[in-house]
Amino acid sequence: MARFDLKTIIVTKDLGGKMAVAPLVDDHPGIPDVPGNELVNLFEKHVRKYGVEIVVGNPMENLRRSNDL
Ligand SMILES: Cc1cc2nc3c(=O)[nH]c(=O)nc-3n(C[C@H](O)[C@H](O)[C@H](O)COP(=O)(O)OP(=O)(O)OC[C@H]3O[C@@H](n4cnc5c(N)ncnc54)[C@H](O)[C@@H]3O)c2cc1C
Repeated sequence: MARFDLKTIIVTKDLGGKMAVAPLVDDHPGIPDVPGNELVNLFEKHVRKYGVEIVVGNPMENLRRSNDL
């Protein structure tokens, strides 16, 4: 979405989920045997390149539409 200039935000309790604690992810295409936290860092770097805002530590409790969005 961010690549198409749509304002994008990631709201998460923690960055990376289960992947962040995986010692080794061995089946990611093109990046064999990569520690999970390294892959999370690569993903974070990639989305930040597009100006995506990341809010960590805020559990989502509900989501609703406003202003025709
Ligand atoms: C030790 C280990 C090794 C693994 N190795 C591999 C591997 O080699 N290859 C492979 O393909 N898979 C592997 N996996 C599995 C892989 O990590 C999971 O399948 C994958 O992380 C699941 O992704 P997910 O986004 O569905 O869930 P999760 O990783 O659980 O992510 C969910 C995210 O949502 C967030 N969240 C949940 N509720 C809320 C809320 N209310 N508000 C805001 N945020 C919220 C959580 O904080 C979390 O960041 C491994 C897992 C572990 C634990």
